[in-house]
Amino acid sequence: MLRTHTCGELRITDSGKIVSLCGWVQKVRDKGGMAWVDLRDRYGVTQLIFEEGKTDKVLLDKVKKIGREFVLKVEGEVAERFAKNDKMATGAIEIKVLSLEILNPSKVPPFTIENDTDGGEDIRMKYRYLDLRREEVREKLMLRHRMLQATRSFMSGQNFMEVETPVLIKSTPEGARDFVVPSRVNLGEFYALPQSPQTFKQLLMVSGFDRYFQIVKCFRDEDLRADRQPEFTQIDCEMSFVTREDILETFESLTRKLFKEVINIELGEFVHMQYDDAMRWYGSDKPDVRFGMQFVELNDLAQNKGFNVFDQAELVVGICAEGCGEWTRKQIDELTEYVKRPQIGAKGLVYVKCAEDGTFKSSVDKFYSQDDLKAWAKKMSANPGDMLFLLSGETHSVRKQLSELRLHLGDLLRLRDKKVFKPLWVLDFPLLEWDADTKRYHAMHHPFTSPKLDEIPLLDTDPGKVKANAYDLVINGVEIGGGSIRIHDRATQALMFKHLGFTDEEAKSQFGFLMDAFEYGAPPHGGIAFGFDRLCSLLGGSDSIRDFIAFPKNTSARDVMIESPSPISKDQLVELGLDLRVPK
Ligand code: ASP
Repeated sequence: MLRTHTCGELRITDSGKIVSLCGWVQKVRDKGGMAWVDLRDRYGVTQLIFEEGKTDKVLLDKVKKIGREFVLKVEGEVAERFAKNDKMATGAIEIKVLSLEILNPSKVPPFTIENDTDGGEDIRMKYRYLDLRREEVREKLMLRHRMLQATRSFMSGQNFMEVETPVLIKSTPEGARDFVVPSRVNLGEFYALPQSPQTFKQLLMVSGFDRYFQIVKCFRDEDLRADRQPEFTQIDCEMSFVTREDILETFESLTRKLFKEVINIELGEFVHMQYDDAMRWYGSDKPDVRFGMQFVELNDLAQNKGFNVFDQAELVVGICAEGCGEWTRKQIDELTEYVKRPQIGAKGLVYVKCAEDGTFKSSVDKFYSQDDLKAWAKKMSANPGDMLFLLSGETHSVRKQLSELRLHLGDLLRLRDKKVFKPLWVLDFPLLEWDADTKRYHAMHHPFTSPKLDEIPLLDTDPGKVKANAYDLVINGVEIGGGSIRIHDRATQALMFKHLGFTDEEAKSQFGFLMDAFEYGAPPHGGIAFGFDRLCSLLGGSDSIRDFIAFPKNTSARDVMIESPSPISKDQLVELGLDLRVPK
């Protein structure tokens, strides 16, 4: 090895040792008679010192030639520092340099490689390999590494077998859009990249593998949205001969272990909540339960008093913002503007101030007496000094709008502490979801999810009411994972496809292999997949999953470093049968 120690390792107890270090120049400070160089590697930074009269003259000349990001090998003696820096792990020592070799010079980097960098997002993405030298960025990937190791050790310890499934698979129309790969040797035909290994992991259960997991890349060609990556990583799992409770318990344990081992947090209770309740109380299937502010429905108290807007609404629903009763007109106007933004789409916001003296003041005083408002406040468990906010409209939209307002208030009132983690299982999702565009039902989770068995007859009469044996793990309002108990017999699977609008032929051509497999002794099974990038960002206290991916794509799904996607040559197009201008 070229080095005896790393740049993060030496302490005062090493004083007097002759060591060699290798690393990158973070900074040079040349004060004439004295010069210091901060040498960095992935373990830390160590200060080198060069002193006229003490350091060899040749070395002093060499120091003048080095700049930021040069790669050096130095040999020297560890010495106690005169001015110690207790912010640095190595801050008590410095190296009196005896020899210095420039292993490789560097051009001036396009931004300073320090935690407090002057580089904007774009330039740092273009030079991602330099950005990765920054401690802050490296630490995030280190967290990801520890997450990977802890996951593998837990899963393997629980008898889960890691099995790799193929990356070139078959395109199917369900779910998101597929990325496809043209086949040269089967001209005119295409593979698809997996959106998830769903069918393969189910086939592994048919093979008797019993407990499977894989940390696996998945690909979805979805529309661009902030913080969405076309390729992302899942912890994908499947188990046979289990109930839903077994699965929830197993993955509660995994989650606990990751939090404990990686960020030393003991998670509290994993609350179980029905999907219907999540929607009714929080207007969301992934509620942030770090704070209360639950929805209270007020149709019975607020309708039929002459206020047209409420009378015509399917749902009148409100939340109580504790201690906000003194908010000014301006603050309320800002909130009103917030909910009226096109992304949220509310028509207006009704407020009721609950004054300290027990009286009420509202934006709808014309229609409601003090007694009316008092009854609202009572139903909403409001105290003097609180503020009520009400929205009304079509149930689904108004819940969504109020959910946005609730989260916004949670932010304003600092109720969403990044260091507090509240896990929640959301259970019993609807099986099907009506799609107004295509005028047919879609599987809310995916078509392999089992309906609640006693509700199967409802499929024929009221399909929208049927519940799935599906569950999501939500932490702090973020969906971390989702899964379900699966269908494991041909007849039910065929019935499901029928309800999703597949003809028998379509079902057979797309998923015949799975239905065939179900006829050769498929065990009852179920599973889950965690969004690994998102889980890392949650534990890392960041809102961005990109930070936790070594080489991420930008918000336009481009890799600006390698400049991908990119056109391919005409020859390649022809070879793949994709150049439409060339007659066959
Ligand atoms: N394959 C599913 C997904 O990617 C997860 C599962 O049901 O296990 O969402």
